Amino acid sequence: MLSRHTLIWLFLLTAVASLVFFIIVPQVEPQVATDAATGRQLVKPPTEMATSLPTATPTPPPSETSPPPPTQEPNRPGLSSGEGEAPPGAPGGSSPGRGSRVPEGYIFPSEIVAAAVRVPPSYENWSIHLVNLFHPLPEVFMPSLQLIEGRYTYNENIEYYYDARAVSALQNMLKTARDEGYPLYVSSSYRSKSYQTILYNNEVNSYLNEGYSEAEAIYLGSMYVAYPDTSEHQLGLAVDLVTADHYWLADSFEATPAFAWLQKNAASFGFVLRYPKEKTDITKIGYEPWHYRYVGQEHAENMVKLALCLEEYVAHLATNR
Ligand SMILES: [Zn+2]
Repeated sequence: MLSRHTLIWLFLLTAVASLVFFIIVPQVEPQVATDAATGRQLVKPPTEMATSLPTATPTPPPSETSPPPPTQEPNRPGLSSGEGEAPPGAPGGSSPGRGSRVPEGYIFPSEIVAAAVRVPPSYENWSIHLVNLFHPLPEVFMPSLQLIEGRYTYNENIEYYYDARAVSALQNMLKTARDEGYPLYVSSSYRSKSYQTILYNNEVNSYLNEGYSEAEAIYLGSMYVAYPDTSEHQLGLAVDLVTADHYWLADSFEATPAFAWLQKNAASFGFVLRYPKEKTDITKIGYEPWHYRYVGQEHAENMVKLALCLEEYVAHLATNR
């Protein structure tokens, strides 16, 4: 009698453990974060961002029902996960006390954006239009979009849009890559302001839910998820690329053969790696080996030749006109 009772309990425990391990645990892991199209001086140095990556746990492919595209980018900073993570100027100490790690003089993205001049892309230089925290998009901005062919997108059931003037260049690049044996997929492209706002709020709220103060949550949340109107994805010219084997957004993407192909060929199709490793102090964005930006072939090849990121290149053009 007793042993049968025990057996039933054992069976139930095993069942619950399996449920937790195989179903609940993997769904806790996805870190919903996207790239920030901008940053600022006071954010944690990108090298530290890189080292503070959670172990890149692949997130399961997104469900095919909901419209928001998959934008998991597990490059998620944290304040309490280890020492040496404190941003410059932040008070030291091991306790992740509320508000204790936000650098002194930190200015909230909302304040920077409120003070910034919003300039719409010009007709002539639309492809090198700079969008970041200091160069937000106009309050109302809607690029002319075109659907990216489903065979080049990560989830065929989600519609991914891109700037209509550059979509053929994108598809050309993806077709050539595939023909040469490096199939790449778009996992995020154009985002509406409302979708960017949802992503941003979700990110900040996730820190609030973890017990961080409001200032900390905003400080951390804006590191990889751009404040609305400051995301290059809203511009319509940014694209996050993945492969079937490496569909999560993490630094490890740089070890894939597809990344090597992009390094070698992207510029000839008009694309540049927007947030290079060695330019993080200028872009103020952590290294994002998956995030590419269309600038046009001539500009892309010049940027590669001169080894300039977009911030530098735009300044270079302005002084060498
Ligand atoms: Zn991106």
